[in-house]
Amino acid sequence: MSVEPRTSVVWEYAPAPEATDHLRLAERYGLFIDGAFCEPAEGRYVPTVNPATETPIAEVAWAGPADVARAIEVARSAAPRWAALPDRERAKYLFRIARLIQERARELAVVETLDGGKPLRESRDVDIPLAAAHFFHYAGWADKLRYGVVAREVAPLGVVGQIVPWNFPLLMAAWKLAPALACGNTAILKPADTTPLTALLLAEICQEAELPAGVVAILPGDGLLGATLVRGVGGSCVDKIAFTGSTAVGREIQTALAGRDVALTLELGGKSANIVFEDAALDQAVEGIVNGIFFNQGHVCCAGSRLLIQESVLDEVIAKLWRRMGLLRVGDPLDKNTDVGAINSAEQLQRIETLVAAGEAEGAVRRSVACSLPQRGYWFAPTLFTDVSPAHRIATEEIFGPVVSVLSFRTQAEAIEKANNSRYGLAAGIWTDKGAKAFEVASALRAGVVWQNTYNHFDPTAAFGGYKESGFGREGGSAGLRPYLRVVR
Ligand code: NAD
Repeated sequence: MSVEPRTSVVWEYAPAPEATDHLRLAERYGLFIDGAFCEPAEGRYVPTVNPATETPIAEVAWAGPADVARAIEVARSAAPRWAALPDRERAKYLFRIARLIQERARELAVVETLDGGKPLRESRDVDIPLAAAHFFHYAGWADKLRYGVVAREVAPLGVVGQIVPWNFPLLMAAWKLAPALACGNTAILKPADTTPLTALLLAEICQEAELPAGVVAILPGDGLLGATLVRGVGGSCVDKIAFTGSTAVGREIQTALAGRDVALTLELGGKSANIVFEDAALDQAVEGIVNGIFFNQGHVCCAGSRLLIQESVLDEVIAKLWRRMGLLRVGDPLDKNTDVGAINSAEQLQRIETLVAAGEAEGAVRRSVACSLPQRGYWFAPTLFTDVSPAHRIATEEIFGPVVSVLSFRTQAEAIEKANNSRYGLAAGIWTDKGAKAFEVASALRAGVVWQNTYNHFDPTAAFGGYKESGFGREGGSAGLRPYLRVVR
């Protein structure tokens, strides 16, 4: 049967850039300590750069050891009053912060996209609403802590140090701050080197919400600053470190804290398996595969970067996936139609290129979508690797970019074995029409989160965290309270 094309018109998207004239960005941001923006002790300011254009956006103060010492001292003296507030009063502050995030959502989304390179569609529809949802969720928990840690009397830990990466800057800040504050702790947050801006806007929001001075400090800086916060300065140190970032740095932090009375949770890297069974709705699965690996340019700890496809549908799924990848719109992150934005930094681009070159050198077959990439900025075309062996670096190491490695399997047992054959254990996806099979496979997987017939779905009520080298501790839901509390009796 021949099928006549319904129209000869080729539809193209018109440019749909988001406006930036509503932004109220300052040229320079100080450190946020004791409820106010202040000069860094060493006077160091570093420009934060738009990775899509390589142009500086604003100058940001980088903190040094003296600033860390001061922030700890201030947070320590604010802690008793904050912890002693009636629970429902603490809840009101979190609720206000959530509302203010909603009120400033458009501005926050644009700044997140400018500073980090992610498509506006994602910062507008995912990052910012979820950040607000986290504050709302933990506002609800603040006066119910005894139900969160069942039938036990609990108390806050004191001062917590929180270190976050660059892939979801505001959302990671919300994941950290909301439960810590709800539990009555004071917090010092270190945003990532390349994406400090939305955390600094969150500092403004804390001021607008009239959060008591000293309850939250925001100290931008690099890894050296993170290490200083972990080790403490002179005699003063924090009571807990909550870290989200790479496994290598997580390991360093664990070593630095060994033998010390500082609590620790680590949310680290991943190489998550997305498993497609032959009985799955394949078109739906392809959408899930695309969302699993190309969402946020693959800069996602739980990205479905190892795609396991049942052999009987391997060719069909790859053909559908490749066709779908050709429709992805790569380019200006501020354009509302963009699917894949800029890579976050030159350094991250280099890391992706190195691993992709290793994939080719080891004999896997590479296909990258042909698309015209902007002249300036950091870009990487969506890429698919087939003929991948489980021992290849692209099948074992986290690429943290828009690159998916395809492996095949014949039986359910082989799928489980291959999925678990990883030093990581953060997340997994299962695509099948059979509910019983999904439960059976999910319970055999060593992964903190398992999605069925969906991928990369986040919800503040659900616990998130890893096994093995993906870290320990959980964030989200009632499980996210426990790491910020000690049991009194
Ligand atoms: P990274 O480990 O290089 O940096 C993370 C943060 O730690 C940054 O703020 C950085 O300045 C700081 N840091 C660097 N060296 C430090 C040190 N020695 N001591 C203390 N702090 C230090 O990671 P990244 O490249 O920014 O982020 C990507 C990584 O984060 C990926 O591996 C990704 O999987 C992981 N990640 C995990 C989750 C999760 O929930 N499991 C979420 C997002 C990202």
